[in-house]
Amino acid sequence: MKLGLRPPTALILFGPPGSGKGTQAKLLKECMKVPHISTGDMLREQVASSGPLGQKVKGIMATGRLVPDEVVNELVEERISRDDCARGFILDGYPRTIAQAEQLELTLKPKGFAQVVIHLKVDYTSIIARLTGRRQCPKCGTLYNQSSNPPKNDEQCDLDGTRLVIREDDREEVIRERLEGYDHQTRPILEYFAASGHPFHEVDGNSVGPQAMLQRICGLLAVE
Ligand code: AMP
Repeated sequence: MKLGLRPPTALILFGPPGSGKGTQAKLLKECMKVPHISTGDMLREQVASSGPLGQKVKGIMATGRLVPDEVVNELVEERISRDDCARGFILDGYPRTIAQAEQLELTLKPKGFAQVVIHLKVDYTSIIARLTGRRQCPKCGTLYNQSSNPPKNDEQCDLDGTRLVIREDDREEVIRERLEGYDHQTRPILEYFAASGHPFHEVDGNSVGPQAMLQRICGLLAVE
């Protein structure tokens, strides 16, 4: 596989929680050989290390609300300024508000980066079913699903044997809160993207497995 994107590009995976952004980002990272930047993972690392930032965001994340823009903007700016992002990177879960999208534009434009948006469309009923069955390896971050993608050994990571966990924000009431936040704060960015002139693609993710979805995305990006 080779990178089909020129100039250096921020590939933005956009969609509601549970639409498969994280899974697709991990698969795309392998074939495109560029870093996967997940603001959710970065924030969970902060919470796990119990530093001041982690303590500040822990309660917000547990209830499914969004962390303040300035916190995530700073984390992303620092991450994308590193050398490994010079050829491009994949954004998963960022931007999530118009203020974040505007900040990203301000950061990337002077560096000559293009932006390509992939919108993963999935119905909310499938999302609730997916997220309540989701399990994650706390060590390497690999995602599983009890029905569609179970681990080989009950509740253990296939890659390192670590016991899988249910994320605190994958409880049904929190999922509903996250979807509501998506509708109010995140979905409006679609119009911002449409008006910004960046290439924009939609992928229907209903009733499609991860590999079929990957093929659709690669087709759109002309990654071979
Ligand atoms: P995710 O793993 O992307 O679903 O993110 C988990 C949680 O982290 C979200 O429910 C938010 O509380 C927080 N979070 C992740 N990314 C962002 C972002 N771009 N802006 C604000 N909060 C975020």
